[in-house]
Amino acid sequence: MGDRSAADAGADLSDADRVRAMLDAATTQLKAITEALRRLEEGRYGRCVDCAKPVPEGRLEARPEAARCVQCQASRERRR
Ligand SMILES: [Zn+2]
Repeated sequence: MGDRSAADAGADLSDADRVRAMLDAATTQLKAITEALRRLEEGRYGRCVDCAKPVPEGRLEARPEAARCVQCQASRERRR
């Protein structure tokens, strides 16, 4: 550490936190994409995994890895 100031240490910490958050998000997205590819292979792609209704095309264009329709995703996020 040497003569580094507390402010630098704080900046390093928040950098590390940012990187960790980024890696977490990337890991989550990779998992979602892997699952989307599996649904594609199984012919279930484009359908909500919760209610089995078709996921709107616009949503799939924005998030191709989306596993749920807007309603199911929203209620899932409310539960958390
Ligand atoms: Zn749904």
